[in-house]
Amino acid sequence: MKNQDLVDYLKECGVCLFCQLRYLKARGNEYQNKQEYFEKVNVLYEEDSGCIEYAPTNKRKRRNVCPTCLDLFSDDFRDQLLLSISSTDIGKYDCDGIVIAMSIPIILQLRQLSMWYALIDKFGDNVSLDRTPDVSLKEAIKLILNPTICEKLKKSYDINNGLMVTINLSHSQEEEGITRLEKLNNIVNPRKRGEKYEKISRSLIERKYTPARVSSELFKEIFDVPPLISNEGLKFDSISLLGPSVYVAGRYRKISRKLSHTPWVLNGERVMDDSIEEIINRNIANYFCDPKKVNFMSSGREDVDVRCLGAGRPFVLEIPNALQSSLNSEKARQMEDNIDKSQKVSVRDIQMVKREDLSHIKMGEEHKRKCYRALCQIGSVATIDMLRKLDLQQGFEIQQKTPIRVLHRRPLHTRPRTVYSLKASVCQQNKCLIILDIVTQAGTYIKELVHGEFGRTIPSVASLLGQPIDIVALDVMEIDLDWPPSISV
Ligand SMILES: [Zn+2]
Repeated sequence: MKNQDLVDYLKECGVCLFCQLRYLKARGNEYQNKQEYFEKVNVLYEEDSGCIEYAPTNKRKRRNVCPTCLDLFSDDFRDQLLLSISSTDIGKYDCDGIVIAMSIPIILQLRQLSMWYALIDKFGDNVSLDRTPDVSLKEAIKLILNPTICEKLKKSYDINNGLMVTINLSHSQEEEGITRLEKLNNIVNPRKRGEKYEKISRSLIERKYTPARVSSELFKEIFDVPPLISNEGLKFDSISLLGPSVYVAGRYRKISRKLSHTPWVLNGERVMDDSIEEIINRNIANYFCDPKKVNFMSSGREDVDVRCLGAGRPFVLEIPNALQSSLNSEKARQMEDNIDKSQKVSVRDIQMVKREDLSHIKMGEEHKRKCYRALCQIGSVATIDMLRKLDLQQGFEIQQKTPIRVLHRRPLHTRPRTVYSLKASVCQQNKCLIILDIVTQAGTYIKELVHGEFGRTIPSVASLLGQPIDIVALDVMEIDLDWPPSISV
């Protein structure tokens, strides 16, 4: 089969230049320079090829709709597509990259199939029965349409972080095409009793409908071969946008002893009006999207009345459908200042991170060390002997039952935990108060470690001391996670 014969036949059927290139198996940027490729494969190049006729009403020269792509690759379609994309909210997204997902009607696939049968009729053995003779529409969209759309919209194609533009196309003959396909399907794959009906889908057509599997006679009984020239091109059903997911990390310090980690609701009512999660979300996520959709994660958490000091606790926000794909340092510092104004939480090192970095927050929680400082009250003035009993810098192991206060949300278990070191000093202002510096394995309940909770934690500071001791105030001093990287201003 000569390339020229192939092209002559395609032209006879009304096939557009781009589709001619698809059947000539053009690759990569060969679609951008049609003439060069035609010459390379020894085919006469005609700019205005395809079926041309004079519309009787206005005597205007007009091109027919290409029977194999239904004008998917025509200039008109591209212009309409760009117009439709521009009329969406795309302007609201500050993204340099886009990804295009185009959903095409099944009728287009059937038309490729019909042309395949037509080429077999025309060129016989030169055409394979089980390998498609063309570059698939999906592939051609990538090679022809995507680069043009990107260029016109001044965006790069970014499969990882781009704004997802989903384009759903339809055609007036879609329903009729599917009805015919169902008819063919009932003949080719008659349903056995009790067998599930396999819904018509693109993959079903690709798997089961090739000239090797369905005879030309049968196909021609139901479909036109070659595909007829259509009067109508494709239509846009819908265009939807989905911004990239971005991840913003930082470290927070909890300064308030009256602040819950997440919204605290009891019997349908708020116990406290604010939470760490809400303060951080509204100051960071607002910039990117609707803060309600954001997922707040932190490396552990503290109780309502516990502060978290030192370098703070690492957190990350997972923000879907973000309008912004970047965050400059000026904006990040401004967010930190706004959070500081709450006077309950202070945040540092706000920065964008990669999805992979989320593992820092999620993994290894059990093995981390945590440093606490507890202010504790005893029933009498502290003595040197007491401080000596609590000077255990070599550490010790404890067995800790799930505290009663968290039993409503955690299962009852006895967990071994390591206390890496314990050191006590007397509060100079009040000798009945002891300051404990405790380094423990993550997941240790500190309040219970101190008072022992009626023997549910063994040993406890109370049992080591041989007398009751209670926590007055607790601070987290350090979290053993060197992430996200510190930002020096
Ligand atoms: Zn075409």
